[in-house]
Amino acid sequence: MPLGHNEGARPPSEKPLRPMTDILGHSSKGTDRMAGKAYADFIELVKEYYDVGYGQGWLQWDQEVMMPEGGAAERASQLATLAKVAHGMLTSDRMGSLLKELEGAPDLTPEEAANVREVKWMYDRAVKMPPELVKELTKHSSLAMQAWQKARKANRYKDFEPFLQHMIDLKCQQANAIGYEDVPYDALLDEYEPGARSRDVVKVFDSLQSRLTPIVKAIVDSDVKPDEGILTKAFPIDKQRDFGNWLVREIGYDYNCGRTDVSAHPFTTGSIQDVRFTTRFQERDIRPALFANIHEAGHAIYQQGIDPKNYGTPMGDSVSLGIHESQSRFWENVIGRSRPFWRCYYPDLKKAFPRQFRNVRLPDFYAAINLVRPSLIRVEADEVTYSLHIMLRFDIERKMVNGELCAKDVPEVWNEKMRQYLGITPPNDADGCMQDIHWSMGYQGYFPTYALGNIYAAQLTHKMERSVKGFWDLVERGEFKPIKGWLNRNIHSKGRLLRAEDLIKGLTGEGLNADHYIAYIKSKFGPIYDVRL
Ligand code: ZN
Repeated sequence: MPLGHNEGARPPSEKPLRPMTDILGHSSKGTDRMAGKAYADFIELVKEYYDVGYGQGWLQWDQEVMMPEGGAAERASQLATLAKVAHGMLTSDRMGSLLKELEGAPDLTPEEAANVREVKWMYDRAVKMPPELVKELTKHSSLAMQAWQKARKANRYKDFEPFLQHMIDLKCQQANAIGYEDVPYDALLDEYEPGARSRDVVKVFDSLQSRLTPIVKAIVDSDVKPDEGILTKAFPIDKQRDFGNWLVREIGYDYNCGRTDVSAHPFTTGSIQDVRFTTRFQERDIRPALFANIHEAGHAIYQQGIDPKNYGTPMGDSVSLGIHESQSRFWENVIGRSRPFWRCYYPDLKKAFPRQFRNVRLPDFYAAINLVRPSLIRVEADEVTYSLHIMLRFDIERKMVNGELCAKDVPEVWNEKMRQYLGITPPNDADGCMQDIHWSMGYQGYFPTYALGNIYAAQLTHKMERSVKGFWDLVERGEFKPIKGWLNRNIHSKGRLLRAEDLIKGLTGEGLNADHYIAYIKSKFGPIYDVRL
């Protein structure tokens, strides 16, 4: 199950990601082993499955970036057929019997065992889904998305409510078909963050929310008001593109194995040696060109850091959406919104836009790019309030799937939580509970991975500050190789050898822990807003 990353209103629409290498190299030493022949046959099937998935990904990339509008219906048919083909490959009798033979085989290397474990996990999820339910989900998500679009435009939640309720009913059926130990929501969360349990996430999110909300309040009450106007002058788009492209190359995005384009909603897709991302530009706002760009480059640097010899297998795939998001948020926020980073690059930015930044001092620029302001819309949220938007959605979707909340009560709960978490009340449902496309698409279980990314990013930063010599001096000099190298070695090249929790534990000595994120937020934003947090 390869991952696509899509920010904003459209969740990732894709599947696997792959290049071209000697996957079969694995088997060369294995023919004299018990599992040798079976493993080689297995890997051949897996690689074909991944190839089809990457093919789907490229068709989707084309749909967002290049395809004429008229191609929509034909493209939908092509994608539906490929989805069917991929499902058939994954759930074939041959795959089933090879998995049976290989599961628990004593002479597999840890990497081979990880490939077997992860494909078995995909296989189990796929075979447990009744074909009628898959069909009904596909059909209903298309109807629900249309209903959502119309209802949002007209600001009439009542029109969307029955579609949402039916989607939840179908997702409950899905959870029951797949199975779970604790609560139904876990079966859905597992798709995006394999191995995660909602009871663990709830515990960490609760501790995060109770500490973030007072921080937001202290910042709102502060007398310091960064000047956003610095960033919202007229910036010629071609210059924004040139600077943005140059900046992501500086941090380590490899254009020999990638390209960048423009789309309505930024996303990253690809395998290992062909990883592309999109960004968007606004004439009167420089921020997307800087930060949406760095964010996507962070996803892309992860993919490009995977070992090409593992192409087309779980060992050549990313761990989870939460870990993926930790990489994008690390580069975007921890590095890209830091003072040392702009000590290095602000002179270049001023050179690119001399008129716009004339008389703008670095401290004022730094405060402006770190503006914190509770707002209605998730995709426009700042680094501090973002996780609160996510926790609100996590709480609501989890309760719906677990049968504790009905669709008709969503607007009331949404508004109440917005008041509680962020101190603001949405004026309408269009900018409240109807702002995101995820629920209409059946992406219940996806939202928490965004906040997990923030938490993991802070844990990894804490570790890197101790493991990479002169970490912040390197940033200030624009020398990112040692930092990227650490990520390549410890995360990217490991593929799916470990699940997220074990990966983080192995690297930092502890599991998911929001303390580092809170410490990071306090130490960064206290001085900017001149408050004790
Ligand atoms: Zn992202």
